[in-house]
Amino acid sequence: MSGPLLKVENLVKHYPLGGGFLKKAGPVVRAVEDVSFTLDAGETFCIVGESGCGKSTVARLLMRLTEPTDGRVLLEGTDIAGLRKDELHEWRRRMQMVFQDPYSSLNPRLNAGQIITEPVENFERLSRKMREALAAELLQKVGMSPAMMHRLPSELSGGQRQRLGIARALSLNPSIIIADEAVSALDVSVQAQILNLLMNLQEQMGIAFVFISHDLSVVAHIGHRVAVMYLGRIVELASCEALFAKPIHPYTEALIAAAPVPDPTQVRLEVSVKGEVPSPINPPSGCAFHPRCPLAVERCRIDVPPLVPMADGRVVACHVRAPIAEAPAQMAAEARALVLSRP
Ligand code: ADP
Ligand code: MG
Repeated sequence: MSGPLLKVENLVKHYPLGGGFLKKAGPVVRAVEDVSFTLDAGETFCIVGESGCGKSTVARLLMRLTEPTDGRVLLEGTDIAGLRKDELHEWRRRMQMVFQDPYSSLNPRLNAGQIITEPVENFERLSRKMREALAAELLQKVGMSPAMMHRLPSELSGGQRQRLGIARALSLNPSIIIADEAVSALDVSVQAQILNLLMNLQEQMGIAFVFISHDLSVVAHIGHRVAVMYLGRIVELASCEALFAKPIHPYTEALIAAAPVPDPTQVRLEVSVKGEVPSPINPPSGCAFHPRCPLAVERCRIDVPPLVPMADGRVVACHVRAPIAEAPAQMAAEARALVLSRP
């Protein structure tokens, strides 16, 4: 296969406020604004940002659980918006989702075996024997004993329930799993076990993940590339290595500074995220981060900064740190020096 597995082009999602009839004229929640990225086979692409920045909406758009206001999602070059109902059914087979709260997303009346084989049974009837064999295989894949198949969700720990959620997602042999805050409800030690499980599954089965989290330390553990979102937009997209070594967007820098530092000898960056996230109903003009940004200049209030490619291949939307080429050469050089000279 040439080209990316998944290509997201200029996705926009505006939710109408106060019901469907006002759709055109009324105020809207600008949940996602012009989001583009690609996902390669076997890759883990992370989306990180504070609550309300549009991460789950991107997940829902990828799964086509909601229609985009604008933009496209292409799977191996095919626009999923053009799919007929039967094709969409087949597409859903290839893309599965794991949710934050395994408890509320698992049917409490079904046992573990029934829960994890249910997606397959939506496609084909299984005999009891076949179902139990499949359940045993899936449970083993996620590090659980086949004997667990008779347990109810209420009889399992949080970590075991999340393993069930993963087994269920694996049942259809997907090429992509979208994990939305999949470890956020778990204790840190259990989080690490689940992240390691996901990484092992990726290695064995070549699954690509879109991994969504508000927690940078989780992203640092599992991600290959990461997009940082702020109020519906990607403000920086980089390899995890580059991003954590040297954040460029002031928002990324502030997020990293606010995250728990695993290594206590590591020096914290100076900026912190001051103030509240503004409302996506009436976002600030220009760069939406400008009211909270320590580096903001006049221009940041006026123009939305475009994503500008940097020398190391990342893209950054910041007038100060990633000025566009038309900017006076001197200013661009000074801004770059500011970025590149950071210790
Ligand atoms: P995140 O997952 O990053 O916390 P969401 O994608 O859930 O963010 O939400 C982004 C914004 O869209 C938020 O302001 C949220 O309140 C709003 N939103 C999400 N879903 C809906 C909906 N169905 N109707 C109206 N607004 C919504
Ligand atoms: Mg969310």
